[in-house]
Amino acid sequence: MKDCLLNYEFEQLKNLVVELGEKSYRAGQIFKALHLGLNFSEMTELSKNFRDSLAEHYDAQSVSIIKSLKSVDGTEKFLFLLNDGNVIEGVLMKYKYGYTLCVSTQVGCRMGCAFCASGLNGLVRNLTSGEILGEVIAVNRYLCGGIGDKRKIINIVLMGSGEPLDNYDNTVGFLRLVSDKNGINISPRNISLSTSGLPHKMRELADEDITVNLTVSLHSPFDEERQLIMPVAKAYKIKEILDACAYYFEKTGRRYIFEYVLIKGNNDTERHANKLISLLKGRPCHVNLIRLNEVKENELKSATDKEAYRFLGLLEKGGLSSTLRRRMGEDIDGACGQLRQRYLDQTKE
Ligand code: SAH
Ligand code: SF4
Repeated sequence: MKDCLLNYEFEQLKNLVVELGEKSYRAGQIFKALHLGLNFSEMTELSKNFRDSLAEHYDAQSVSIIKSLKSVDGTEKFLFLLNDGNVIEGVLMKYKYGYTLCVSTQVGCRMGCAFCASGLNGLVRNLTSGEILGEVIAVNRYLCGGIGDKRKIINIVLMGSGEPLDNYDNTVGFLRLVSDKNGINISPRNISLSTSGLPHKMRELADEDITVNLTVSLHSPFDEERQLIMPVAKAYKIKEILDACAYYFEKTGRRYIFEYVLIKGNNDTERHANKLISLLKGRPCHVNLIRLNEVKENELKSATDKEAYRFLGLLEKGGLSSTLRRRMGEDIDGACGQLRQRYLDQTKE
């Protein structure tokens, strides 16, 4: 496979351009064109010779959209093809103020959470920073967006397939690329990173010079019960995760968010609500409740709307800032990883 120029930070691209015998200002033109999603043949500011020699050695694009499914509520799911033939997925959500794109950070995931379709076949491989960026660029181009002020995607959530902190360097590399002022330029303030809770990596992230919104998938306030649905919980106790969150707040001043998927009869009882309140009360955090997207490969059921609102009410009464996330894209198989799973099932037959 050729090296993709989307992996190159601006300064690296400058060095490369000079090494190739061109003037350094060309790097600005190429970086912009790459972030617009252009192919080398479309970079008409460059000489034909230079374009041809770039195309001979490098790729300009890292992902292409092979399928999109639109929900009645406007949510759109994408199946992306990577240059090596692997597929990943992303979800575009439309809000009043603009588009939010949910991107994948790995092909599959090795965390194996019981409720998640992304981890069904384990981890295939990490995405490079340029591939994660490629998801944003492909969809932005699909929306006819430009770069900088003309971008159509305003927010990014790292909540697609994969554990971003298990692919730490590429994820942080992506954050640098996507927020570069010379390119698409999406502010880290508008980026949320969701993790299943790897405390040492959360601390490392807190020490970076780039600050995103940190979201932690908690899903149970009890270590023993959390281990049953999230194998990674065997390695890290909730206390270690909460300490890492506190460190994140201390270093960044940003309040953090807990994701809590409501699974019927599993983690949605009053006992769970009370324990959550005692764990989280007084912390600079918010709890985001999500009704489980049922996955056909397992038996877990979602809490009903009534049960979900009851749980929300208990948390609110207990003094926790919390919301119940509205369902989006249900009719197009909302659960993360489902679209890819179906594609893989089809190609197997
Ligand atoms: N690996 C990271 C980020 C990707 S998963 C993480 O686990 O946080 C993004 C979010 O989707 C997580 O909060 C995850 O728990 C949730 N999720 C996974 N499967 C789900 C399902 N079937 N229904 C609802 N949410 C789900
Ligand atoms: Fe991986 Fe997140 Fe899915 Fe767990 S919920 S298997 S960590 S993608």
